Amino acid sequence: MKTEATTRTLTCDACGGACEPVRRFSVVVGHDREFVREIVFDVRLVSPYQTDDGDVCDACLRKALEYRLRTGASGRDLKPTCWERGVSEPARETMRCLGAFGPTLAERDREVKGWLNDGESGASSAYWSSGRLRAMAAHFVEVADWLDRRAETADDADRDR
Ligand SMILES: [Zn+2]
Repeated sequence: MKTEATTRTLTCDACGGACEPVRRFSVVVGHDREFVREIVFDVRLVSPYQTDDGDVCDACLRKALEYRLRTGASGRDLKPTCWERGVSEPARETMRCLGAFGPTLAERDREVKGWLNDGESGASSAYWSSGRLRAMAAHFVEVADWLDRRAETADDADRDR
C-alpha cells in the first residue's frame, strides 16, 4: 500500500525492505521541437488479494527492469518472477491452482509465494521452499497411491454406485 505521508516508515511491497519507493520515472526517447518526448512509467506493485497500488523500491525496480530487458520484448509475461523458460505450463497451472503460487524475487531463497485460505480472515501469504515442494510432491503421490489402492479393494456395492 502507498505509505501515508504522515508516517515515517516506507516499505517496499516487493522485498519488504524499508526503503524509499519509486513512484514514477521516465526515459527520454527524443525531442519534438523544443519539447522532450519521453516514456513515463508509473510504478506500482500489484499483488493478488493484497494490493494493486503497492510501493516498489529502486533495487526491486532495477531488478525487474533488468529481467525484462534480458527476456526481451517477446516475453508475454511482464512479471520479473517469470518462470516460463524453466517450468512447464501444466506445472505452473498446478501452482496457480494451489493458491496463485509463483517464484519470489529473492532467487537465493528458493521459494515460491502464494496465498492460502486461512478460513475466517481470508487469504494469507505462504512461502514454500524447494525442499517443502519436494516433500509435498511425495505427499501427493502417497495420497494418489492410497486412492488407487482403496478403489481396487472397494466392494461391489460401492462399485455400482
Ligand atoms: Zn524492494
